[in-house]
Amino acid sequence: MKMAEKLRRSENTLSATRNLIRESVERLKLSPSVYEYLKVPMRFVEVAIPVEMDDGSTRVFTGYRSQHNNVLGPFKGGIRFHPEASPDEVKALSMWMTLKCALVGVPFGGGKGAVVCDPRQMSLKEKERVSRGYVRAMGNVLGPETDIPAPDVYTDAQVMAWMADEHTIIMQKPSFGVVTGKPLPVGGCVGREEATSRGCVFAAREAARALNIPLKSCRIAIQGAGNVGGYAALLLQEEGCTIVAITDSRGGLYNPAGMDARAVMAHKKRTGSLAGFPGADAITNAELFRLDCDILIPAALENQITGDNAAGVKAKIVVEGANGPTTPDGDRILKEKNVLLVPDILANSGGVTVSYFEWVQNNYGFRWDAETVNKRLEDKMVEAFRMVYSFTSQNCANLDMRSGAYMYAIQRLAEAMHYRGWL
Ligand code: NAD
Repeated sequence: MKMAEKLRRSENTLSATRNLIRESVERLKLSPSVYEYLKVPMRFVEVAIPVEMDDGSTRVFTGYRSQHNNVLGPFKGGIRFHPEASPDEVKALSMWMTLKCALVGVPFGGGKGAVVCDPRQMSLKEKERVSRGYVRAMGNVLGPETDIPAPDVYTDAQVMAWMADEHTIIMQKPSFGVVTGKPLPVGGCVGREEATSRGCVFAAREAARALNIPLKSCRIAIQGAGNVGGYAALLLQEEGCTIVAITDSRGGLYNPAGMDARAVMAHKKRTGSLAGFPGADAITNAELFRLDCDILIPAALENQITGDNAAGVKAKIVVEGANGPTTPDGDRILKEKNVLLVPDILANSGGVTVSYFEWVQNNYGFRWDAETVNKRLEDKMVEAFRMVYSFTSQNCANLDMRSGAYMYAIQRLAEAMHYRGWL
């Protein structure tokens, strides 16, 4: 996508998010001040990150951190490395984090960060220098009690480990709680890597249950074969679902009879791409959205289901693994088609939930086992889904779960603002 088009879309995403927040405040008959607090980040930081490249040259990358709102607790949210990251995109992503944490009931505010770079064109050492440079440039903007990043697009547990190490050097004391999503030996939490996807699976299961469809009979199409999309494929296969399609940035695979998700992900790991996997046809990302399936999981980037392609969606359920994958026009069309859409701030909140578990364990020196983590995640996700679903059924037309989720989260934020004396 051209940079100008991407910037225009990010600006639209930010204004669409603001519109939804304003509408929710009005429908809930809350003080207009609630919207005033939520329409902008409390702080937005832009930094220059000088990095020595492997060829000896120096490049200066731009880094962002948006600290949207901390009425519920420290700012929390991922860092993405992406060549098209923009301030408006990062601001919108941080707003969704505020809403997500409120919705799922974890005591964090919303934050998000990015470095404008293409890690696919960098060596491991260059990526390490960018990661450490980001933490140094941000100085005391980040901290285990103030603002806690996590992985996002094109960042992973290794990036988090470098960031935790750099923060530890700066603070001159172990500071692992400054980021979550770390590898296990340096304070990571078992189950964090697949937590967002596991949360999506619980959300998909609850949505299917609401429509009286057995999850294991569902045919699944997934956009994105990274952390969220890849694990979603593996975990849904474990639930007995049929994975009919999966794509990544270069295209994808389709087999109406289903594919072995394990073999697909092993092929992607081995070759770096989905292309060439035997036993499936090649498809484009555009084709993915038109496929015959029961559950569609956009798990890549924003603005993928739009006014141009939503009419072609055949799925009965859309579970937004990615943040902001559906535009307002796409949303309206899916509603008209009676597609049950589980919105991002609910569907992908499993990641921040287990990040919260990791942070608690870091702070107290606990080590929970996989069974404990997964059960606590399931409890949180199921409770959040059922609360939002029942709130939506009572308050919103056409089972519009996005409006229901926004209203439910904003009600909680407004209560906290009231008690803190902000209103
Ligand atoms: P990732 O980097 O692990 O994977 C991203 C995937 O998207 C890759 O397979 C990539 O090839 C694909 N992709 C990129 N551009 C694409 C395009 N134009 N068309 C199709 N596919 C494309 O990232 P991730 O962590 O899986 O994040 C994916 C989404 O989930 C993002 O919206 C992110 O904000 C959201 N999310 C992630 C987490 C988490 O814990 N990682 C938590 C909540 C939400």
